[in-house]
Amino acid sequence: LDLLASSDPVVAELISGELQRQRDHLELIASENFTSAAVLAAQGSVLTNKYAEGLPGKRYYGGCEYIDRVEQLAIDRVKQLFGAAHANVQPHSGAQANFAVFMTLLEPGDAIMGMDLSHGGHLTHGSPVNFSGKWFKVHHYGVNPQTEQLDYDQIRELALQHRPKLLICGYSAYPRIIDFEKFRAIADEVGAYLLADIAHIAGLVATGLHPNPIPYCDVVTTTTHKTLRGPRGGLILTRDPELGKKLDKSVFPGSQGGPLEHVIAAKAVAFGEALQPQFKTYAAQVIENAKAMATQLQNRGFKLVSNGTENHLMLVDLRCIGMTGKEGDRLLGETNITANKNTVPFDTESPFVTSGIRLGSPAMTTRGMGTEEFTEIANIIADRLLHPQDDTVAQDCRRRVAALCDRFPLYPHLNVPVPA
Ligand code: PLP
Repeated sequence: LDLLASSDPVVAELISGELQRQRDHLELIASENFTSAAVLAAQGSVLTNKYAEGLPGKRYYGGCEYIDRVEQLAIDRVKQLFGAAHANVQPHSGAQANFAVFMTLLEPGDAIMGMDLSHGGHLTHGSPVNFSGKWFKVHHYGVNPQTEQLDYDQIRELALQHRPKLLICGYSAYPRIIDFEKFRAIADEVGAYLLADIAHIAGLVATGLHPNPIPYCDVVTTTTHKTLRGPRGGLILTRDPELGKKLDKSVFPGSQGGPLEHVIAAKAVAFGEALQPQFKTYAAQVIENAKAMATQLQNRGFKLVSNGTENHLMLVDLRCIGMTGKEGDRLLGETNITANKNTVPFDTESPFVTSGIRLGSPAMTTRGMGTEEFTEIANIIADRLLHPQDDTVAQDCRRRVAALCDRFPLYPHLNVPVPA
């Protein structure tokens, strides 16, 4: 940052501001995390200078001898991490990974079936505003209205009725364990391909703390930057090497050009970290912390979708206190708590207003917090949301957030240059 400060103080100041924001806020967005300093270093490296269209050993450009080894290392490590036979680490994002899968398995007009966005699905699983909803015939399943959990009988009935060519599981806002074996049985019964998009839970899967979809699914996609704690990006895995070759072609030249090798190096570093025993300790703590926060929110009278959590996230249904997600998000934002408003199943509010707040534990667990701190976070949230008009409470909540942030420093090695 010092170098940048002297050459481009404007950008340096903005980055410094963002670093300070990350340090001063409780980051509870379930899809965010803080990478290691090593991941940051790899991503900010000279590898950004290199074109490397193709795959390791089969490039369209010269000078790829180091790049090849970096990308092969990322491939080998991620295959080991998830027990996959084939991996493509080039997708620039989770959405790009899903695009390449659709391109491989489907023709425009084919039927697909994924979870409704408002029940926890992702835009790329058939939303009308996304390519997946524009180019394919989309059928959605949702959660059971009573349990607010996956209802495999209902999913089977819908699959039998609509006969999708691709069945999608894996979600953006689902707090419970996914039974991939049950999805496989449904896919087999209707002759569908099965895709698991484990963007959110990848770090839990990699450490054996959530069942692994690889043995059951034709293809598995994920982002690398959520519970997996790597750089922002995506990847594709499969247990079928022949399908793997087709998926490779759909990434390049099908839908991307030159891979981001600096990001792939950072992915390799993150996969190396995730293979260490400490990462399993981290992932277990993520789950413990989410449980502690969920329990305390329930103790304070809040209703959680599906009545709790088994992973890294939870959805608070704010209708129990007569508040919208938008208002809750605003109040938490003013308290230096970053979260996001989120629809709850069968929400009657618009996606811009919503009735819920999504909270996650991965980022603050990375900062070193444990169940005691997450119980305190739940208490701060409850105090603020239950007293929306009380300035004294608001002030006290901000003070408690600052105290927590001070106790668990973020990137202490990074200095914030003072503008000249
Ligand atoms: N799939 C799921 C389930 C997600 O939750 C997300 C992101 O939130 C994505 C895909 C897309 O990832 P990206 O934002 O990297 O495109």
